Amino acid sequence: MFQFAITARNNRARTGIFSTPHGDLITPVFAPVGTQATVKTLTPEHLKDINASLVLSNTYHLYLRPGDELVRDMGGLHKFMQWHGPMLTDSGGFQVFSLAQTRQIDDEGVTFKSHIDGSTHRFTPQRSIRIQENLGADIIMAFDECSDPNDHEYSKLAMERTHRWAEICLKAKRRGDQALFGIVQGGVNPDLRAESARFIASLDTPGIAIGGLSVGETKQEMHDTLDIVTLLLPENKPRYLMGVGTPEDLINGVVRGIDIFDCVLPTRLARHHSAFAPEGRLNLMNATFARDERPIDETCDCYACKTFTRAYIRHLIVAKELLAGTLISIHNLRALIRLMERIRAYIADGTFESRVPELLKQWANNAKRRESVNG
Ligand SMILES: [Zn+2]
Repeated sequence: MFQFAITARNNRARTGIFSTPHGDLITPVFAPVGTQATVKTLTPEHLKDINASLVLSNTYHLYLRPGDELVRDMGGLHKFMQWHGPMLTDSGGFQVFSLAQTRQIDDEGVTFKSHIDGSTHRFTPQRSIRIQENLGADIIMAFDECSDPNDHEYSKLAMERTHRWAEICLKAKRRGDQALFGIVQGGVNPDLRAESARFIASLDTPGIAIGGLSVGETKQEMHDTLDIVTLLLPENKPRYLMGVGTPEDLINGVVRGIDIFDCVLPTRLARHHSAFAPEGRLNLMNATFARDERPIDETCDCYACKTFTRAYIRHLIVAKELLAGTLISIHNLRALIRLMERIRAYIADGTFESRVPELLKQWANNAKRRESVNG
């Protein structure tokens, strides 16, 4: 269990198999985010159809509602939400720092007020592990503190706390059927990132996460940080780049030896009527599509593209029908999962590195909304 077998390499990019109690993950892999124990607007059947393998859920949200003990009593997260493939939960740390109304950090943990009803709660490393054990995901995260990436002094303090907390999490962990990943922090400071990578690697966890990126730093800073960190991490453990990202970030991450990604982007875009397409991201509410008989993407194999026209999906959006969000979510997630399938095939046949410029070019138009469509 939790063995990582690398099956092919292309310079620093790797493809491999990470075994979990709910099935094997073929990496590099993109995980859809199911914050509230549901990938918004999709059923587990939809997720299977688009070949999703790993689903992420958020500890902070499930702890507040419906409560981790309720989820445990209902048989755990897999049974509760009827997703029987591999699952990952975060530690709750990032959400406490980004969502909670007020928070007070001390060396032992964080006291915060719920963004739902203002009630007071406290997370410590032990508490985060206990909650994640109640939820029961296959991969769980050490409790960490994400700092302002450019503040060196605070980044150092947060990194040191993250290291101490990682050791406490390892001691607190009781279940043998969950892989606990340590998290590398350190902002965009090369010295701190190197120190953190070495320290977290020394804990010998079955996988290692890289946190604190995609939080406002430049793309160059993200790439430089990944270059420093991944070169210091053991080869035989999966590396998970948390909360990243755009199609371009996925490609650039794999180039630097990242194996696991998650991001809310595909489903969040879908709720704003925005779809990945070969000609650039489309806003399907646009009147241009009123009589467009084409699917979102003629090259896509998803249910939405095989079945419906842009005109129909635009109609659903204008009529405020919920099916619009479902269809665009299916498409956007499938687009990224298909990208990862292609990347894995290219790594396996040794052509990935030479295809990176072509892949980046194909996805360049999806970095932002296409401005030229103004019907
Ligand atoms: Zn599609």
